[in-house]
Amino acid sequence: MAPMSAPVNSDRPFLNRRLAAFGTTIFAEMSALAARTGSINLGQGFPDTDGPAEIAEAAVRAIRDGRGNQYPPGPGVPELREAIAAHQQRFYGLGYDPDTEVLVTAGATEAIAAALLALLEPGDEVIALEPFYDSYAACIAMAGAVRVPLTLRAPDFRPDLDALRDAITPRTRLLLLNTPHNPTGTVLTPEELAVVAELAVERDLLVVTDEVYEHLVFEGGHTPLASLPGMRERTVTISSAGKTFSFTGWKVGWVTAPPALVSAVRSAKQFLTYVSSGPFQYAVAEALALPDAYYTAFRADLAAKRDLLTEGLTAAGLRVFHPQGTYFITTDISPLGEKDGLAFCRALPERCGVVAIPNQVFYDDQEAGASQVRWAFCKKTEVLREAVDRLRAL
Ligand SMILES: *Cc1c(COP(=O)(O)O)cnc(C)c1O
Repeated sequence: MAPMSAPVNSDRPFLNRRLAAFGTTIFAEMSALAARTGSINLGQGFPDTDGPAEIAEAAVRAIRDGRGNQYPPGPGVPELREAIAAHQQRFYGLGYDPDTEVLVTAGATEAIAAALLALLEPGDEVIALEPFYDSYAACIAMAGAVRVPLTLRAPDFRPDLDALRDAITPRTRLLLLNTPHNPTGTVLTPEELAVVAELAVERDLLVVTDEVYEHLVFEGGHTPLASLPGMRERTVTISSAGKTFSFTGWKVGWVTAPPALVSAVRSAKQFLTYVSSGPFQYAVAEALALPDAYYTAFRADLAAKRDLLTEGLTAAGLRVFHPQGTYFITTDISPLGEKDGLAFCRALPERCGVVAIPNQVFYDDQEAGASQVRWAFCKKTEVLREAVDRLRAL
């Protein structure tokens, strides 16, 4: 008979080699620190105010009316797929067939995972902008692929397009882009996108582009990579309702791409969550159809918050790198005589009751991000004011 308690005796670690480097995310550590010290959390990027009340009501109504309470269709409910296609047409003039070219996912996070798991063979190389959004490296690893960073460097964080050209090898399968870029706030220009597109066509690469901050571009506008010549055929575009409508907990995301690519991504997606967020899908369909005034006011509100936090961080002695998009500001702490962002962020709650995120955890190149710290400004104005007050103690 087996003993009641039988410890696993093997020396082999439980976490496999593919994931061993990815313990817990920095957000867990820093949010726990914020809670323990009663600090203002400018670390994790979630809004402290919910999105439009009528959209929350639409979700309640869907639940009460019995819409989406049971497994929704695998590709997403038709109302949402049609709203996503209409959104791409309305803002970018991009036509997608809601039946064959749109896939609803459990947030952008699942879309990224499913795309990489579906499109990559073990050993394929993926070129991605670093600093990386935190799930990219882990998903590339889960796919057994190899990440090749294209490093964005202070002070401008522009992609080095010659370095991109040099980084492409016969093993490169895919470019993983993110614009507007978290955490640097970089928005790729149409000229930069044109070079990326030219290289993708010339070297026959697939592109997965994460555009969850598409409605948070403060200067110029957002250009989807799929709108460039030759790109629609090879591009998987990913977005989500979380950031645009301030409902990050609903986890409604989507993919738009040609039928063969959508079909490939769906093959992986069906074995991850199968489906998710039934009633919320109906609510997000209504959100996407909100008038332009919603989108304009949302952007203006966050632009004002960006300016408020920029001023406060500058007054506190940090060097601010002006973000063109997203709801993050990256700063350099060297003017304070500090070199190590991680040590700085671990000490910050004790020093002045504010939590931020060290960018170095998003870099393979530890030197490039060592003295950078990221601050989220998707918070109430009074919370940002209080944070700025506290930061004066630096
Ligand atoms: C927040 C975020 C995501 C995740 O989006 P969800 O819809 O919450 O899964 C993906 N990419 C970037 C760059 C993000 O900032």
